[in-house]
Amino acid sequence: MHKVYLRFYEELNDFLPEEKRKKRFAHQFIDRTSVKDLIESIGIPHTEVDMILVNGKSVNFKYLINDGDDISVYPVFESLDITDVQHLRAKPLRKPKFVADVHLGRLTRYLRMIGLDVLYKNNFNDDEIVQLSLKEKRAILTKDRGILKRNEVTHGYWVRNTKVEEQVMEILERFDLKNQIKEFSRCIECNELLLQIEKEKIDQQLPPKVVKSQNEFYKCPSCKKIYWKGSHYQRMLTFIHSLKNIEH
Ligand SMILES: [Zn+2]
Repeated sequence: MHKVYLRFYEELNDFLPEEKRKKRFAHQFIDRTSVKDLIESIGIPHTEVDMILVNGKSVNFKYLINDGDDISVYPVFESLDITDVQHLRAKPLRKPKFVADVHLGRLTRYLRMIGLDVLYKNNFNDDEIVQLSLKEKRAILTKDRGILKRNEVTHGYWVRNTKVEEQVMEILERFDLKNQIKEFSRCIECNELLLQIEKEKIDQQLPPKVVKSQNEFYKCPSCKKIYWKGSHYQRMLTFIHSLKNIEH
């Protein structure tokens, strides 16, 4: 039996049981494995990890662990530039696009509401999600960390919160998107970009009350749904303002 010492930093502790959080702990193993397999066997997907120090030196995921190694594991710091070490995570996507798993339907609608590009279907399977992520350079948003442990996955994020408003804030902070909020730009149902449309072209399809009180309309070119700043708008606006006011 061999033994190594492990310490996980910052939000990587979210994946650990209470007794292993924010402290150095011993871990025993029989066969030598890569440090990636070791970290994932403890429950942390590699997409969450940006830096690994073994006995003070930075290593990559393929590093084979040795008896007695002292291993420190750091998460992705989106906006912090640590030079002179080996960053393990693929470069952040400049303008993040997402593909969400089947558990994140409500979050998807909220993210589209503030203009973010999120693919979602309630019957996506893991293979489809991974393929879309790789083909279209989309970060995977998931409540299932299993999918993030797959070797081919480069960009992914395990959503911690369960309340949708908190999930939205979590995503905006993690991907540094607070300045990219653009309400009324995307269809909540199908993710298409909305087009502004003149009232005269659609007033036959609208309730008379809306025709009378509204002047600004948007239409989805795909599902044809029409959007206007109606009764839900004020509530939505309050929420969006609260998002924009998150401290940097
Ligand atoms: Zn639509």
